[in-house]
Amino acid sequence: MLLSVSLVLAQLATGLDQPVKNVVLIVSDGVRAREVFEGGERALMGRAGGVENEPGCVAKFFRPDAAARRELLMPFLWKTVAKEGQVFGLSRVGSPMKVSNRFRVSYPGYNELFTGWADPRIDSNGLGENPNVTVFEHLSREPGFEGAVQAFATWETFFRIFAVGRSKLDVRAGWNPPFANDPERTPGKDVIDAVHRTTTPLFGGNALDAMTYAALKESLKTKRPRVLFLGLGETDEWMHAGRYDLALEALQRADATIADLWHTMQAMDEYRGSTVFLITTDHGRGGLPWDWKHHGANVLGADDIWLAAIGPGVPALGVRRDTGLVTQAQVASTIAALLGHDWQAVNPKAAPPLPLQPSAALAAGAR
Ligand SMILES: [Zn+2]
Repeated sequence: MLLSVSLVLAQLATGLDQPVKNVVLIVSDGVRAREVFEGGERALMGRAGGVENEPGCVAKFFRPDAAARRELLMPFLWKTVAKEGQVFGLSRVGSPMKVSNRFRVSYPGYNELFTGWADPRIDSNGLGENPNVTVFEHLSREPGFEGAVQAFATWETFFRIFAVGRSKLDVRAGWNPPFANDPERTPGKDVIDAVHRTTTPLFGGNALDAMTYAALKESLKTKRPRVLFLGLGETDEWMHAGRYDLALEALQRADATIADLWHTMQAMDEYRGSTVFLITTDHGRGGLPWDWKHHGANVLGADDIWLAAIGPGVPALGVRRDTGLVTQAQVASTIAALLGHDWQAVNPKAAPPLPLQPSAALAAGAR
């Protein structure tokens, strides 16, 4: 009885008539709202952005019109997700999105995304196993989700963020061969494991996006997760490395990867018409000419983020306006509510779901 009441409340919060069957959360690390909404920044397409081939970068990523420029950079997000779904985070039309943790680095951001609140104890990437239960861990123990929660991530820190020692979640992360412990072998698994073993580790604990995505696609041939996380890391790594051109390349490829995953899943009976994609980032980064590479507590603008959503229960409202401030902390409850669960009933510290419905948006945006 209590459960059904909280279920109804969760659905009221999102305005959903009926829960969806599957939710996929995709995070591309450290992507500024600026690139998402305006495309590549011209001022960084030369020496200031560590770009040697300025004419090549401009030809590939610059168009005078901002709408054309962002479509060039993220065609799936703008031509499909924004048309059939929604995008939060454009502050000048009254829908800013921010992280609520004050650290503006990855582990605190992912903790906020996965648990629904900014835990002040989670203050750096160096922390051990997450003391907090994530919405992923919780759902994995709910009826209908047993063995149906999976995470694929380039960054090995996700073992700690998802607290795999306690949660026993199925997490494949970093340079570790993703199928090393799978007794059932396929030619695909053998190749992907070998690539993980033999590729020079360009970024410390962060594998290349293509490797992690290849593992996810191979896994999808036999597994059917209902709650799935994909963590891509190159967008952050190339920015830190001071290579704006490669950061744009990585973002364009992340968009293509998300498109491929969407089309792959829409072609499967288990996912077609019953799956929501939430696409977001863990933190922003500096907005000034000298700090675009960085993010952190003292970097202005590194708390500005964005989120795009597509699928049943996500009305085609496009770029959201006048919602008022929404936060990273609202994502965990959104995942649960879409699936018919009330995360705030489990974790009272969690923020409410995002206002995906026009009526909920009105209420949230009341001034
Ligand atoms: Zn970073």
